[in-house]
Amino acid sequence: MRNNNGLTTIGFDADDTLWQNEQFFRLTEKRFAAMLVDHGEENQISARLLEAERRNLAVYGFGIKGFTLSMIETAIEVTDGRVPASVIAEILEAGREMLSHPIEVLPNVRETVETLAGAYRLVLITKGDLFDQERKLAGSGLGDLFDAVEIVSDKNAATYARLFSRHGDGPAKSMMVGNSLKSDVVPAIEAGGWGVHVPHELTWVLEHVEAPVAEPRFRQISDLGQLPALVESLKN
Ligand SMILES: [Mg+2]
Repeated sequence: MRNNNGLTTIGFDADDTLWQNEQFFRLTEKRFAAMLVDHGEENQISARLLEAERRNLAVYGFGIKGFTLSMIETAIEVTDGRVPASVIAEILEAGREMLSHPIEVLPNVRETVETLAGAYRLVLITKGDLFDQERKLAGSGLGDLFDAVEIVSDKNAATYARLFSRHGDGPAKSMMVGNSLKSDVVPAIEAGGWGVHVPHELTWVLEHVEAPVAEPRFRQISDLGQLPALVESLKN
């Protein structure tokens, strides 16, 4: 079969695929390290924070609120329990600011989604804090272009099998597009779909895995603007 195998459904990741996200974490992390400058170098504080995030992921899930709690936990650790309440207040304030950052839609996103919207079923699939993801989607102005929005606690092969069956014709006729190999690309291919990687210059270290270069359904584009042509090329 030399068409795109009846591709009917395209899933899009949101953070750092449709709009900026990781940059706000990086900025806050720098600010956090500056608050604790008497207790370690920036890279040491960052490493301790990452350890806390890794430990807490299964409990708090992804998103800013869990990140804020991990900053507090790290501050307590690196100060041997002596972190002043004023610093805790600063951390909480930094977290609150992240939860109200402006939405910056990435280049070529709107045009791409508009181009594909008529011909394919489009599903936004994102993980993180429900409230925050809803806020960002509303702020992006992209909400009406999607046929469905799914905010999930994690993204694995079972997630994609379920969502592409619910909103499409099953994973084999679906494609997932995103900046995270670990969350967007590899599990979508594992579920039987296409996985398209759109790298973002900032991607969280816990989202890195090897690119599945040997997989026939793996593709990589440098910019979301290349997606319509890619989808078209799969028909041949
Ligand atoms: Mg992402």
